Amino acid sequence: MPSLIAYNQSLIDLLLLFTGLGISGMLIYVNIISIIEKEYRASGIALVFSTVFFVPFLFLYLYDFPYKDIVSVSLLVIVYSAIILLFLPIRPKIKKGFQIPKEKHDERNVMFSRNELKPGTKQFDSYYLNNADKKYLDDKFREKPGLLSPDSSMYHPFSFASAHANLEVIEALKPIVNGPVAEQEIDIEPSKISNYLKTWSKKLGAHSVGITELKDYHLYSHKGRGDLYGKEISNKQKYAIAITIEMNNEMMQTAPKGSVIMESTQQYLSSGTIALQLAYFIRNLGYSARAHIDGNYELICPLVARDAGLGEIGRMGLLMTPKLGPRIRIAVITTDIPLVIDKRKDFSSVIDFCGICKKCADVCPSSSISFNQREEIKGVLRWKINSEACFTYWGTTGTDCGRCMVVCPYSHPNNFMHNFIRWGINNSYIFRRFALYMDDLFYGRKPKSRKLPLWIGV
Ligand code: SF4
Ligand code: SF4
Repeated sequence: MPSLIAYNQSLIDLLLLFTGLGISGMLIYVNIISIIEKEYRASGIALVFSTVFFVPFLFLYLYDFPYKDIVSVSLLVIVYSAIILLFLPIRPKIKKGFQIPKEKHDERNVMFSRNELKPGTKQFDSYYLNNADKKYLDDKFREKPGLLSPDSSMYHPFSFASAHANLEVIEALKPIVNGPVAEQEIDIEPSKISNYLKTWSKKLGAHSVGITELKDYHLYSHKGRGDLYGKEISNKQKYAIAITIEMNNEMMQTAPKGSVIMESTQQYLSSGTIALQLAYFIRNLGYSARAHIDGNYELICPLVARDAGLGEIGRMGLLMTPKLGPRIRIAVITTDIPLVIDKRKDFSSVIDFCGICKKCADVCPSSSISFNQREEIKGVLRWKINSEACFTYWGTTGTDCGRCMVVCPYSHPNNFMHNFIRWGINNSYIFRRFALYMDDLFYGRKPKSRKLPLWIGV
């Protein structure tokens, strides 16, 4: 009997050592990744925790004292019960609500369109005659220096000039979103061409690609920008291919400084270029294709991407992707080439997580993001941001801000550690609550904006 007790005790001791080393090792891994990511608060906390959590296990392993076996077993039971509880796939059904808009959006109401209206023009007068309620709000952003203005608070000559350059190239690309289709239509096997388009897009730099049927509710009712202002939109193409592209984390971490607008315009350009390449390619095969790029859309990209299985729309009104959260840009190609559509995936965990997180709402300098639960807007249960207040803030900083995007717990880099946490968030209702608490602890509820990268300059 005594030998059996001794045997059990040595097993418990081994398990104690294994558990202590496991937890501590994991925290040291978090510490190293955080240093690489320049998340110094997270790295410090991980380092302290790796020691603090190891001490009781080491103590129990090394020293004997009365009731040691009871204390050891209790500690092990607590730790393993907590782990099991965190990873059990407990997923209460989350109300997705209505997801299909009952009426189309008019692109003329989008802030970028309103910003392009010039006082004294026919379009300006006509818009505010029909939308008198928006005049007061829009006068406010017109009082500000404006996007990329040298008088704005975040003015930085290099980053602003780079963003200008990106926008000028995009401007040059706008007229070529559509074009002539080759006379001969090549026979296509839908699965093969779908796979080809997805693989090629990724080789060109896309992060994710999805295909959906083009629905009427994806389309704006009227054009709000460019020469076709006010024209009713009609697009009868059958499919829409959505591509997302990553926005560089280091560039975004300075939000709302100049590198943000430099990066967002860069990725508008990169996603737009891929969309154009795909559209040209499809037309060369004898099928119609139109690229939808920054400033020349016929549709609402996040809605298309959501239906193509690339993510869910969260509290900020942006597409939340599984591996990069909202830290992406989207472009779309609509086409008639026969394709295989992707099923919409269940990302209702995003809705639940956004329901409790509210970090973006907490950091938003213009209080544009709601703290409330979703509400029904035009037949869809969703969050709506105050786009006038947001745009007015952009007019002050001269950049497209992005504070909400960078603090989002889904936006952390695409690596094993963060993907594991995002997987846990998707997997378990309990893990979600734990992950939010840990995110606040490790990164701060309102993390500070970083300095511009050295190569860009102070
Ligand atoms: S910060 Fe939080 S609430 Fe806001 S979009 Fe991200 S997960 Fe949702
Ligand atoms: S971009 Fe900035 S101002 Fe606009 S909603 Fe996000 S945090 Fe607020």
